[in-house]
Amino acid sequence: MRRLPIFFLVDVSESMVGENLYKLEAGIGAVVSTLRKDPYALETAFLSVIAFAGKARTVTQLTELFAFHPPELPVGGGTALGAALIHLMHEIDRTVVTTTPDRKGDWRPIVFLLTDGHPTDDATKAVEQWTRRYRHRVNMVAVSIGGGADHALLKRLTDEVIVFNDTAPDAFARFIQWISMSIQSQSRSVSAGQDAKVSLAKAEPGLLVPIEDALTGLTPFLGVDDRYAVFVGKCAKKNLPYLIKYERHMGRIETTDPVLSRLLRTRRYVLDTAIPVKNSYFDLSDTLDSGQSISSDDLIGQPDCPHCSAHFAMAMCGCGRIHCVEGVGKQVCPWCGKTGMYGMAEAGEGFDINRGRG
Ligand SMILES: [Zn+2]
Ligand SMILES: [Zn+2]
Repeated sequence: MRRLPIFFLVDVSESMVGENLYKLEAGIGAVVSTLRKDPYALETAFLSVIAFAGKARTVTQLTELFAFHPPELPVGGGTALGAALIHLMHEIDRTVVTTTPDRKGDWRPIVFLLTDGHPTDDATKAVEQWTRRYRHRVNMVAVSIGGGADHALLKRLTDEVIVFNDTAPDAFARFIQWISMSIQSQSRSVSAGQDAKVSLAKAEPGLLVPIEDALTGLTPFLGVDDRYAVFVGKCAKKNLPYLIKYERHMGRIETTDPVLSRLLRTRRYVLDTAIPVKNSYFDLSDTLDSGQSISSDDLIGQPDCPHCSAHFAMAMCGCGRIHCVEGVGKQVCPWCGKTGMYGMAEAGEGFDINRGRG
């Protein structure tokens, strides 16, 4: 049997944390249940999920549809696209059966690359290798989530670069449907013996925009840089990491509350979510330091610790790392082990907080 191998190469960096990652996780499940009802897909499609942040890891090996269990996606720091491509090429070499004079191999693999940020590693070598040895025999569809990816770089990987507007109504549900339909359509093509360019479902205006149109300015959501500020904290009680994500509000929030309205005028980021992560976070991260910081005076909202519910999850130690505290006074930092005195920063005396790598 000739298989149609499908790889999801998914960016699980900090900026994806929260809503987007949950929706993507549920989305992969939805793709699978749709495809299972399609006789052509059921016969040919095999799925694999590779997650990447600062490092890349195969989360689900290439598996036939009815044995496939949608995985829980991990989280990490960084967007090492170079490392992700190298991992992908290795996986293709390892699992895809090539055609030889006396053997029909697998159909041309499809790769859905989903990413929302600029690479944090040097992807030059990986891109060259991809272009030379893989680009002509693998169908890659590169999706820039929210328009935040490096589009020039994605264009070097494939002709199919699409900007996904994740703020559109029902964006993820429609996006997932589009992926399912594209896979169905491709599995029909290969069943008819056509192993050609990927036949993508029709992209919906406003939701999925070909990069050429996006570049001509038809998509106002494009070029939103720096949408999120993400911080890595550690619970002082449980010694486990958590992520705090702030979103740039860009004047979109309306309020009648005078205090909030004043804050919105002077501060750029508003609290989005604080979520607990496992220690596996460190396995998928390259380095914890982005070298970038942001002033506490630019942030609106202060979350509780998502592990132990302590009142302040954004306390900063002299070592530069963030952890939780119950209130002012003496505390031991779970990162460096030193004891320090903690007080409250007054407005206007903001301190610089080190950001994650996104
Ligand atoms: Zn805590
Ligand atoms: Zn410390």
